[in-house]
Amino acid sequence: MKIHEYQGKEILRQFGVETPRGIPCFSVAEAVEAAKRLAGPPWVVKAQIHAGGRGKGGGVKLARSLDEVERHAQAMLGMRLVTHQTGPEGRLVRRLLIEEGSDIRHEYYVACLTDRASQLVVMMASREGGMDIEEVAAREPEKIVKVFINPLDGISDEQARRLAEGIGVPVSSLPGAVITFKNLYRCYMETDATLVEINPWILDGAGRLLALDAKLNFDDNALFRHPEIAALRDVDEEDPDEVEASKYDLSYISLDGNIGCLVNGAGLAMATMDVIKLFGGEPANFLDVGGGASTEKVTAAFKIMLKNPKVKGILVNIFGGFMRCDTIANGIVAAAREVHLAVPLVVRMKGTHEDIGKQILAASNLPIISADTLSEAAEKIVAAVR
Ligand code: ADP
Ligand code: MG
Repeated sequence: MKIHEYQGKEILRQFGVETPRGIPCFSVAEAVEAAKRLAGPPWVVKAQIHAGGRGKGGGVKLARSLDEVERHAQAMLGMRLVTHQTGPEGRLVRRLLIEEGSDIRHEYYVACLTDRASQLVVMMASREGGMDIEEVAAREPEKIVKVFINPLDGISDEQARRLAEGIGVPVSSLPGAVITFKNLYRCYMETDATLVEINPWILDGAGRLLALDAKLNFDDNALFRHPEIAALRDVDEEDPDEVEASKYDLSYISLDGNIGCLVNGAGLAMATMDVIKLFGGEPANFLDVGGGASTEKVTAAFKIMLKNPKVKGILVNIFGGFMRCDTIANGIVAAAREVHLAVPLVVRMKGTHEDIGKQILAASNLPIISADTLSEAAEKIVAAVR
């Protein structure tokens, strides 16, 4: 799960990581009021969306007067902010963060995440903050310093110091940097985050170290342990199909193609997507209805796909083990009754209650194209959407 910058900064502060003072706002009037309550000028008006690269896209503006705060807030609220992370359609800006402007002397980068290869937590930092870290990693990988942390030991003073010295934090600010890195690590571990990224983390004119940006992602499977974090979810920022699917506990991920897929089992879903691509098609989604899906769940899944205007055809690929083919067939028929089936539908069913499932589909009089093997099914749906 992702959260907004202002929410991330609140969490960072709870763990002793310093940030500039700021106030989240939902209207222009609130933005001006917020600026009055903060030290300034200058202030910074920041669009709150779940995507980075806002600065370059016009979503971070310096304001030297209350008039400018008002003007920037007016322009930003309601705009569709396009950044390299939003796609060309951009994101609607509904929230702002008004923040005290910092006197930036240097912009660093620091992040904490899990390194799957070493099975350790990695904290990495760079003296080249503010810009795209991917670019630094590609062009000058030596400018990224990493320490690998065994979660049983935690981060040591020595590791934190190695990071701080490695990115050239001035000697007088080293103790503060060591404390920040240790707090950042604690924040990452104790919130069950999958990523804590601060870009930029700055040194200001007074020698203070501040997180000027905050990107925190959390492990969905651990959210039950953190109701206060789960409450920060902003469904406006999520794909509406994925939000709908999550209500039914479906594993659903929207993709860019036009062939909707309904499959049971994550492995089979991946294989199905591969075979669609093999025949020159593009999947519109990943969808695993799971092993114990009810007719209701299958109906919901099918409706989500049918409502998506991008979907030009649907492939159902079911291996009936625990999942019975008749359950799937009933779901398809129920959904097609509620939402008109206007696109070609290819169904491949194998296994438990296969015969009953096929009978249900045949009796429904729906225009279903049946297939016997996965290749045949993929070939047929790719041909049908062309
Ligand atoms: P994004 O990464 O989405 O572009 P950031 O929060 O990193 O957004 O802001 C972009 C740039 O704006 C920063 O690199 C920094 O130079 C500047 N900036 C952001 N917040 C402040 C602030 N409070 N004071 C001064 N400059 C800021
Ligand atoms: Mg940033």
